[in-house]
Amino acid sequence: MNRLVFKVGTATLYENGKLSGRIDEIVKLLSELNKDYEIMLVSSGAVGAGYTKCPLDKSKLENKQALAAIGQPLLMREYKERFNKYNTTVAQVLLTAADLDSRKRTEYAKKMINVLLENKVIPIINENDSVSVEEILFGDNDQLSAYVTYYFDADMLIMLSDIDAFYTDNPKTNQNAKPIKTVNEIKDEWLKQECDPNDKFATGGIVTKLKAAKFLMERDIPMYLTNGKNLESVKEILANKQTNGTLFLPKEGK
Ligand code: GLU
Repeated sequence: MNRLVFKVGTATLYENGKLSGRIDEIVKLLSELNKDYEIMLVSSGAVGAGYTKCPLDKSKLENKQALAAIGQPLLMREYKERFNKYNTTVAQVLLTAADLDSRKRTEYAKKMINVLLENKVIPIINENDSVSVEEILFGDNDQLSAYVTYYFDADMLIMLSDIDAFYTDNPKTNQNAKPIKTVNEIKDEWLKQECDPNDKFATGGIVTKLKAAKFLMERDIPMYLTNGKNLESVKEILANKQTNGTLFLPKEGK
């Protein structure tokens, strides 16, 4: 394991419409790991940050784009100030699906990412929401983080979510649902459930995470899903231990 992608969702960063203290913990962890690994961060939260300044109705595409344009620099400032404390330099990378839909464009993007990583700069990646229109949307940052992991040659995707793990059933409606430690196959029927994000600014839910896991599994890349409140579990998984979360592992391992 050398190159890691972390994905942080809006529901992990924000609590009751305000940035939560978890961002400090995440920045500390990533700065520590940046000494031994190459780290990329796919972060949501631009639309949520924009809303704190300008509460527009985000159901309209142009409003959502405007919220992202307002919020993206606010989000970056929050990260930049915190990473500064650890002398870690960060870079903003905004992508649209079109940037990864041809070999040539992907190659250009990868070369730039490699320069950042060689220089120990952490790319903070988001979808370029303010110019993304329906047909070029990645859809959500769960998919985007899976594409980033694959196209930029990372060894693992670590999703820090408000979901603890993948369960045998919906834990919100079935108290007997049990977390599953390892998943080697994504069943098609799992992907047919409705998307059900826990935060009104989040777009994901378990289904988009399973889709991301499937995309990576088919390409022999592992994905680990854990709660962003429990960062110890990240250190454990990197040390090949697992007490929490779900590890989506290709059958043969990588
Ligand atoms: N790109 C969106 C944002 O920064 C989030 C998309 C997602 O939550 O998956 O707010």
